Amino acid sequence: MATPLGTCKKLNIKKDVRITKADLPLHCPPSDSVGWCSHPRVFLAIETSKTKSSRCPYCGTKYSLVSDVQ
Ligand SMILES: [Zn+2]
Repeated sequence: MATPLGTCKKLNIKKDVRITKADLPLHCPPSDSVGWCSHPRVFLAIETSKTKSSRCPYCGTKYSLVSDVQ
């Protein structure tokens, strides 16, 4: 199966992360996830997405923007 990073075997394709506006601007990998498959930091324009969600093109982590009050 082809991936953006062919050498990366620990994909987080099933990872689903909720973020709030406090986490914007969103970038992956987040600064507190040192154990994740490393890749160049990429900023995701989740706040402009109609679905309020964005998937990292490198590791496949799906981010969902949620309300601050849950
Ligand atoms: Zn990522």
